Amino acid sequence: MIDPFGRHVTYLRVSVTDRCDFRCSYCMAEDMEFLPRKDLLSLEELDRLCTAFVAKGVKKLRLTGGEPLVRKNIMHLVRSLSRHLKSGALEELTLTTNGSQLARYAAELAEAGVRRVNVSVDTLDPKKFHDITRRGDLDRVLAGIDAALAAGIAIKINAVALKGFNDAEIPQMLRWAHGRGMDFTLIETMPMGEIEGDRLDQYLPLSEVRRSLEQDFTLADIPLRTGGPARYVEVKETGGRLGFITPLTHNFCEGCNRVRVTCTGTLYMCLGQDDAADLRAPLRESEGNELLNVAIDEAIGRKPKGHDFVIDRATSRPAVVRHMSVTGG
Ligand code: SAM
Repeated sequence: MIDPFGRHVTYLRVSVTDRCDFRCSYCMAEDMEFLPRKDLLSLEELDRLCTAFVAKGVKKLRLTGGEPLVRKNIMHLVRSLSRHLKSGALEELTLTTNGSQLARYAAELAEAGVRRVNVSVDTLDPKKFHDITRRGDLDRVLAGIDAALAAGIAIKINAVALKGFNDAEIPQMLRWAHGRGMDFTLIETMPMGEIEGDRLDQYLPLSEVRRSLEQDFTLADIPLRTGGPARYVEVKETGGRLGFITPLTHNFCEGCNRVRVTCTGTLYMCLGQDDAADLRAPLRESEGNELLNVAIDEAIGRKPKGHDFVIDRATSRPAVVRHMSVTGG
């Protein structure tokens, strides 16, 4: 799949559910209404959809959400998709998770060929963790991380940098992650979906965070590129990798290799734009994949050059109306 700007689309992120057992305050509103279960693609349909993308050249598949591990029978899908790893068609099958169910699933994930997962942890203070997630139990997430590491799964910790919330804790989190052999990535808040607070109050530019980290650590740029908006440095003092995901201060759309599909089969060609294509109808209209393939090709032909998230007082509305939990991280 090659888009109009010559970019090869080889990475698919699939949100398997919009539901989550947490309600992170920068991500969702407290009283989120989730989709009726009947609107969701079945696990078989998700498998068919992913398989069509793999046949079209997708090499990396990330399951996300909502919280992917709260989808009922999710391991059926993971085990089924792992056949593409065995055949060599797929290079990587991975997940982004909040870690709450990881202790339960780590061994099975490893068995199915999952080699790495991203776990979102915004603070190491149990009370603050409970507050920001509005219900999460940090110990349970830490137990999930232990289980995944014990199963041989590599972990990248993702933390959203939030002004006045975790800025002072970032050096400690970095030392903790690297001390356990995990990569650590910081993310700028993105203006996605209505939430209760004002995002500008939370917004912390990572350029500022980097300057402040450089007072204690030596950061050396490294050329690791994932086709996404992350840039990586090596931290000399810890020997670990630190990533900066900066969709606002910099966007790196020119190298974008990814598209996203939701649990209802809606394909988003860009995280920061509302244009989308419905794949559920062509998926359901026939048992063969002809209609589906046409719809995918047509959508890839519309992949936009990039997004233009802005976050300022004049733009009080979010740049895109859907919440991050719809398309996943
Ligand atoms: N439940 C899983 C998790 O917690 O990782 C997967 C879905 S979650 C939406 C994926 C990532 O998006 C998490 O790291 C979360 O912190 C991040 N996220 C959610 N809303 C965001 C926003 N508005 N700006 C930046 N990152 C956001």
